[in-house]
Amino acid sequence: MLQQTQVKTVIPYFKKFVKNVPSLKVLSTSNKNKILKLWEGLGYYSRAKNLHKASKILIKKHKGKLPDNFDQLKELPGIGDYTANILLALIYNHPRIGLDGNVKRILFRLFKLNEKSVINLFKTNRNGDFAEALIEFGALICKSKDPKCYECKIKNMCLYYKSKEKVALKKNNKIHSKNYDIFCYLKKNKRQIALTKNNNVGFLKSFNLPKIEQTSKQKKNWKFLCKYKNSISNKKLNINLYYKFSSKLPPRFQWYSLNKNKDFVPSFTKKIFRQVSNLY
Ligand code: SF4
Repeated sequence: MLQQTQVKTVIPYFKKFVKNVPSLKVLSTSNKNKILKLWEGLGYYSRAKNLHKASKILIKKHKGKLPDNFDQLKELPGIGDYTANILLALIYNHPRIGLDGNVKRILFRLFKLNEKSVINLFKTNRNGDFAEALIEFGALICKSKDPKCYECKIKNMCLYYKSKEKVALKKNNKIHSKNYDIFCYLKKNKRQIALTKNNNVGFLKSFNLPKIEQTSKQKKNWKFLCKYKNSISNKKLNINLYYKFSSKLPPRFQWYSLNKNKDFVPSFTKKIFRQVSNLY
């Protein structure tokens, strides 16, 4: 009944069917029309016809028992490779799995295995449980779209998950570059630059720097000097350097000699020094 039909649709039909046809013997002796009537509304009526025919063969040829042999199972009407495998796993605990699209997807994601290489791979004491678990796992966790990898208990052995993790890691590690405008107040004829500790740009906080802003619109009255790239820890910076000659010191700045070399000056600031030194 579950072939091509969802569980919730099947449940009321199944209950009604087993109430009216409680055993294989009753099924094999029932009138075909009675079976089709019970199936009415469920569709795919060949399933009902095959079930009815198979019950007769089982009673006649197999003493009312499902054979535990793949080839004999496949001789029954309506039973193909998938059903034969899953019946052997569920009923006889054989090391077989039902290889439908869902299970193939799981095995490929986990181990990059194809269907031929897995058929004899899983031999546990609970082969039936394993075959059933794979079906449930594919339906609930390792779904075709948006697998729930974050709650998957076997993600550490999953090649698909590891490759996704790598991509995520690469994405996280990707260094994004930011644009900064640096404004240098320079003292004319003195080779001095105004520096401050009050920059709020998130790097070199404790060192003196010129006025720095992340892409400022207020560039009027400033002269463009040059453009260059700089890196600081994992930041990549695209710098636009501007300057202005001034005799007045802006608030919270102090003049610093471009020639002074006994103080520690970070290389980021030294680069700025080199650029503006060309103006003298
Ligand atoms: S980690 Fe994701 S892709 Fe891998 S088996 Fe689990 S759910 Fe499937």
